[in-house]
Amino acid sequence: MGAGRTALVEDLMERFPHVPREAVFKEDLLRGGIAFDESALSDNEGGDVKPKSYFIFSFDHGTLPELGAAALRRPPEEIVLTGGPYELRRTVVSVRVNPSSPYRVAADEDGMLGLYLDGQRIADVGLPPMPDYYRHTLENGKSVMEVAPTIQWGYLIYLTVFRVCQYFGAKEECQYCDINHNWRQHKAAGRPYTGVKPVEEVLEALAIIDKYDTAKSSTAYTLTGGAITSHIGGRDEADFYGQYAKAIEERFPGRWIGKVVAQALPKDDVKRFHDYGVQIYHPNYEVWDRRLFELYCPGKERYVGRDEWHRRILDSADVFGARNVIPNFVAGVEMAEPFGFTSVDEAITSTTEGLRFFMSHGITPRFTTWCPEPTTPLGKANPQGAPLEYHIRLLDAYRSTMDEFGLSSPPGYGPAGPGRAVFSVSSFMDSLDSSRTPEENRPAAEAPAAEA
Ligand code: SF4
Repeated sequence: MGAGRTALVEDLMERFPHVPREAVFKEDLLRGGIAFDESALSDNEGGDVKPKSYFIFSFDHGTLPELGAAALRRPPEEIVLTGGPYELRRTVVSVRVNPSSPYRVAADEDGMLGLYLDGQRIADVGLPPMPDYYRHTLENGKSVMEVAPTIQWGYLIYLTVFRVCQYFGAKEECQYCDINHNWRQHKAAGRPYTGVKPVEEVLEALAIIDKYDTAKSSTAYTLTGGAITSHIGGRDEADFYGQYAKAIEERFPGRWIGKVVAQALPKDDVKRFHDYGVQIYHPNYEVWDRRLFELYCPGKERYVGRDEWHRRILDSADVFGARNVIPNFVAGVEMAEPFGFTSVDEAITSTTEGLRFFMSHGITPRFTTWCPEPTTPLGKANPQGAPLEYHIRLLDAYRSTMDEFGLSSPPGYGPAGPGRAVFSVSSFMDSLDSSRTPEENRPAAEAPAAEA
């Protein structure tokens, strides 16, 4: 897109003045990635900047061997934008590397990092400091970053305890998901990347976080990983992921808000999650449109089916309470070629229908911004991702649908509002009013981690 990108961004800011400027940039950075000058890379686990942990998917626009220096010296986990000609309020953005992006992070002649678009400096850039707890290792030498990385500026401990998915191959894997490829590429690069994380290792890593996170910035943990269609170690999906929650809650009762991202399971299985101490359940519905769900999520369609998936989501509200059921969708795949909608209008209409379906039952979905990873079928066919206009109009539609049903931002996401949000993989929290922060999100989240 070259120099036209600035014009595109400014046009959308003008047309959608109630969407915060910060969110427009954040969506564009998430959908299209960022190029990193060597001055903005980390020194991996030995430096002062918190490195990208590759917490579940690659979230990059190239494979590791295509990333150049960023494959050897990891980029930061996140960046924080402030100031510049658009007077941006503090905006936390998850890092997705794209060496050919028109957005570039680099140092100026005084060594101050900035974000450049089409060659113009548009914001100051802060990097996350290396947390104290990353400077310690487990007894077996594994790093805390590998076993229990934190994201969202330290708010969320991301526990991908099963690093692959039992939906395997073109006929089963979700068409936008590179979990299995990401596992392979880390193994091929000789990086430590544990397929199934032993419960004891997770507890040990959490004990280190608990000890050194004296500001108590870490507020929630997410247990997740690939779908389990059979068993792991004799356990089905509910018992496999649930065993970690049980162990964590026994060892650190109430220290963090426990969340699990898993398939939409039958109600009895969902009850087991709840019994194990999980507080928030994410049975992700991925994409609303029936035809697209069938095409993009062939494994889920075959094993469970879209209608049953949705029924189970509604049923799980009986167990967790509607507020604590927060299904995710991957924003942007609606417009992926060759099967997706060809107009933004149609895509927004479809997505809004899904939002209304869930919100009319008191369930608040949330979304992550699609990163078109190149080893996935949809990423390969759509290296530019979805149009930025789709992402901006979605923020608008999300907010007004919430208003229609009198809902506030979902629990477990920290504070809402531009300048305050920490959720880093879409800007839905940046684009809601700060008054929408639910009570349960407030305490520790009000104290952001120190900046570099
Ligand atoms: S269920 Fe789909 S999105 Fe989830 S890990 Fe498996 S392939 Fe990826």
